Order: sequence, then structure tokens, then C-alpha cells
Amino acid sequence: MSWPCFALPEGAPTLGQVSEIIWALRQQLTGGVAETIVHQTHQEEQRRQQRPCPTCARLLPARGPVHRCVETMGGAVELQRPYFYCRRCRAGPSPLDEVLGVQAGRRQPDVQQAAVDLATEIPYETASMLCGRLSGITVSSERMHAFTPQGAEGLRVVEVAPSREEIERRVGQVAAGRFRRPVLVLGIDGAYVPSRPESARGRRPGQARHRARRARWRHEWREAKGFRFSLLDGERIVHVLSWHQGQNEQELGEALQQGKDAGLIPEDAVRLCVVCDGAEWIWNHVQALFPHACQVLDYYHCSEYLHKVAKAQYGQTVQALEWVEATLTRLYMGTMGPVLGGLRRMQPTSEEARKAIDNCWIYLNGHRGRTDYGTFRRGGYPLGSGGMESAHKFICHVRLKRSGAWWYEENSNQMLALRCAKYTGTFDQVFTRYQHQKANS
Ligand SMILES: [Zn+2]
Repeated sequence: MSWPCFALPEGAPTLGQVSEIIWALRQQLTGGVAETIVHQTHQEEQRRQQRPCPTCARLLPARGPVHRCVETMGGAVELQRPYFYCRRCRAGPSPLDEVLGVQAGRRQPDVQQAAVDLATEIPYETASMLCGRLSGITVSSERMHAFTPQGAEGLRVVEVAPSREEIERRVGQVAAGRFRRPVLVLGIDGAYVPSRPESARGRRPGQARHRARRARWRHEWREAKGFRFSLLDGERIVHVLSWHQGQNEQELGEALQQGKDAGLIPEDAVRLCVVCDGAEWIWNHVQALFPHACQVLDYYHCSEYLHKVAKAQYGQTVQALEWVEATLTRLYMGTMGPVLGGLRRMQPTSEEARKAIDNCWIYLNGHRGRTDYGTFRRGGYPLGSGGMESAHKFICHVRLKRSGAWWYEENSNQMLALRCAKYTGTFDQVFTRYQHQKANS
């Protein structure tokens, strides 16, 4: 490589001018340093005259040298190295590439990881633009599109989860200095993801000319179901693990089962608590997998039912407000008997009121064992599933809900898996795994 040459402006340059020049040359400068280091540290491989074939052990003479340029976060690195071709095995490895761990393709894994790091936060176009501006490395948005699924391929909850040791460390931190075991909250819920149907795939030849035409497919909102384990540390939430995917109830149950089977949930070191709305399938999973967990019906869901009753029964009146306040207070104190009794004694003022009262009674009565809010409060358990809702926001909505963005389910699931890894603190772990897989394939 040739060292970059530059000219300072006439006279005394400002710091801004100096910085600008260095910034423009940074990839060349750091690439040059990387290249020098490779040169210095691998002289033997570059001068090697012969080596045995890794397959048939025949001694092979050096050929070349051949030139190759690879891009790293530290800049472009030019490699001049011999290769050793075995005619019998039809293979011609380059030992320098092997010891350096150079991967196929021009852009090396650190560039790919940085690109995916950006693309999992912001739209591909913006990610590409910022990548170029901040690092000096050009990665087109199409390339970013191609990188993301590679990193996410085959990810399951166990790959995205932190190790058991790491989870124990987080539990230990929260437990320190407390006499009760910390509360580990499991939230389960769905969030809507903007989707496009599979039928929108496959642009036919010539279709590009009609790009401006209205799309033939209709967008839809599909539910991504997810769960989140988090620790309560006073007012603070310590995140442990999130897993969100476009998946059905059964698949979500299987993912929970995988986490349990992998021993990720330290049930004996925490007080496990599940906070959810009333959905039956959720409680079935909980009952099957964590029968000893404390079950909490989301207090704010209850409050919605009560508001509906008040509105239908009393309309927009002071009386309605007073009734809701009084009933919510009873609920908050954990006295469900009087709440249910009160609903039973109500004389419906309309058909609508009768329906609302019945619905509310059925809902609350069906979840009686999950509404002991007084005990939950004294035990330090959460009353609402706010932690789950914020997970939906920072994992799904922030990246997937963008104006004009409609996702194929496969793509949104890959994006979700990577974002779960990010917020669970395992993004590097996921990429290390991917590189091992790639190197061994
Ligand atoms: Zn051979």
C-alpha cells in the first residue's frame, strides 16, 4: 500500500481543517497500520516455499504470490501471499489466509457485525449512510439487507439467551443485601407488526418499469408474540431475556420450554411471578411450565373492565368516577369478594350495562386467584405488565414500525431475533456463533 499524501491548506490550519483531513484519510491511515502489522507478524507465511497438501499430504510448491484486498473496520488491508495448489485434490489453500482467519468475500466479519449493529436500530438506507459517514466504510443498503439474515439464521431462544452463569450473576446483583429472594417477572403478550404477505414476493421481469404502480398486495398487521424475563430491583427493572417472534401460541410455549429445559431460569434463586392479561392460552403455558410461579392478573386490565362498567351504567357522570375509584381501591387492597358482590348487586340501567357488568364479573371471577393485589404488593410483586409493554416498544415497535415499512414475516422475525439479542446483551455472542458456523461450513 502507499501511504496517503495530503496537503495542509496555506497558512496556519485550524483544528477543524486538520481534523477534516485526518477524518477523510482515516481508513487509509488505519488500514496502513493494520497492513504493516500483518506484514511484520506473518513474514514466515509470506515467504513460505512449500507445504504439504492438507488432504493428501503431498508436498506442494509455492505459487503466486497472489494479491487480495480485504476490508476491515480498521481499513482496507492488501495481502500478498503465496498459494499452494494440489492438482490431485483440486484445492489451493492460502496458509496466510488461514492463520489470519480471513473469511470469504471482501468485507470481513467485523464490518458485517458493525453493519448489522446499525441496521437493527435504524432503516437500511439510513444505516448505510451513517455507516459511510461515521466509519468511512461503504456498505450499500442492499448489502446490509443481505447481512442481517446471515447473522440471524437459525437463531432460537437458547442462542439469544445469556448463559446460565450470566443470569445467575444478574440475579446475584439484585439479591445482594436483601433478605428475600428477588422477584423474577415473566411477561407474555403479543404486539402487532406491520407485515406484507408472501404473495408480494418475486418481482417479475419487466416489472421494474412499472414501479410507480400501486402495490398489488395489501398490508396487514400480524401479531408477534413474545415473552420477557426481568428482575425487579426496587423501582428499577433488570432485563434478563426477551424472545419475540411472529409465532403462534404453541410455538411460544415451545420457546418457553426450551428456555426452561436449558436451565436458564434459576427458579430456586428467585421468586418467579407471571403478570399477564386474561388470555387463557398464556395461563395454560404458565400452569404447565411454571406451576409454582405467582400468577398476577394485570391490574390495569381489570381497571379497563371496571371503567367499561361505570360508563355503561352511569354514563359520563361524577357517580361513574366515584364508583370506579371505590371499586379500584377495593381491588388494590385485594378484597375481591366485595368487588364481585357489588357487581352482582348492581341493577343494570340498560342492556349495554348488563353486558358490561356480566363481562366484568366473569373476567374477575375467572381470575380470582390472580387478583390478590394486597398480598402481591406486600410481597414486592408487580401489579401490571408494564415491563412487557416496554419490551414490545423497544424490541418490536422502534425498528419495525417505520413509515412505509411492511415486513415479510421471515425478515421481521430475523430482525426481532437480533434485537432480542441486543437487548439481552448477547449480540456479540450471536455473531461469534455465526462466524464459527461459517468457518466450519
Ligand atoms: Zn492433495
